[in-house]
Amino acid sequence: MSKFVVKHVAVLGAGVMGAQIAAHLANAGVPVTLFDLAAREGDRNGIVNKALAGLKKLEPAPLAGAARLALITPANYDDHLDALRGCDLIIEAIAERMDWKTALYERIAPHVSPDAIIASNTSGLSIDALANALPDSLRERFCGIHFFNPPRYMRLVEIIATSHTQPAVLDQVETWLTSTLGKGVIRALDTPNFVANRIGVFSILAAMHHTARLGLGFDEVDALTGPKIGRPKSATYRTADVVGLDTLAHVVGTMEKNLPDDPWHRYFALPEWLSALIQKGALGQKTGAGVYRKQ
Ligand code: NAD
Repeated sequence: MSKFVVKHVAVLGAGVMGAQIAAHLANAGVPVTLFDLAAREGDRNGIVNKALAGLKKLEPAPLAGAARLALITPANYDDHLDALRGCDLIIEAIAERMDWKTALYERIAPHVSPDAIIASNTSGLSIDALANALPDSLRERFCGIHFFNPPRYMRLVEIIATSHTQPAVLDQVETWLTSTLGKGVIRALDTPNFVANRIGVFSILAAMHHTARLGLGFDEVDALTGPKIGRPKSATYRTADVVGLDTLAHVVGTMEKNLPDDPWHRYFALPEWLSALIQKGALGQKTGAGVYRKQ
């Protein structure tokens, strides 16, 4: 197997995950170009710049030091697609929507080096269906690389092949993730929400269901499902806020839509009050209000 040398990475999407993945790579000394949609004239990279500024406020801090920030170059799809040509690895981390992701793949494909590997950080959309938006030559070099939140601290990464992915590509990705980032990699099948989210999101939904059934408050449930059971930071509702309530809704939707015969199917829905928060734009930590008002 030829060695996969990653000299420069493009991360597409400067949201909760994209910005933190960029920070994680910068901490490992890997230069990154971080893309998002172009903001208004005069501040074309406004979304990315705001995300980078936001990294400094997160706990635990995703960047080891301010100097690492210099390894991240802000970019947008309108002005900087040429920069993709110099990237050996492209990690897409835009919102969990099949139509938005595939539209972006069609847009970037003409600008990608034929030797690059492209990956999606999707939480559980079909990797095979995403790959269909790419031309044959790139489809062979596409896979899922699913980091967990927060990516700097969560060791697990799932990698997922499509029916077209060259086996060598998956081997190269696994070697790079373990040697450069110190990750523990599992190879998951291309099933809805893969392995960890299929279990983890179901456990969140079960806890939410029991909250209503037992008439508990969300802070009581968090007290029971957090530090008391050895999860110092994460608990049911706090995790939902950290993930992003809209993203959680999309991930639940993937199970609801694609697993109609699952014996637990009727539980694949968010509580109505949580859907109402999403409608109001209270999406969790990223908007400053979610289940918990002050983040
Ligand atoms: P987010 O909502 O924080 O950010 C999404 C980004 O996508 C935003 O910066 C937005 O500007 C951009 N975007 C929106 N519409 C777009 C479009 N049409 N074209 C291009 N860009 C667009 O989302 P996130 O939480 O960072 O999730 C990103 C991906 O990572 C999703 O696939 C999600 O399922 C996955 N993921 C999320 C988590 C988590 O805990 N949040 C964990 C693992 C994986």
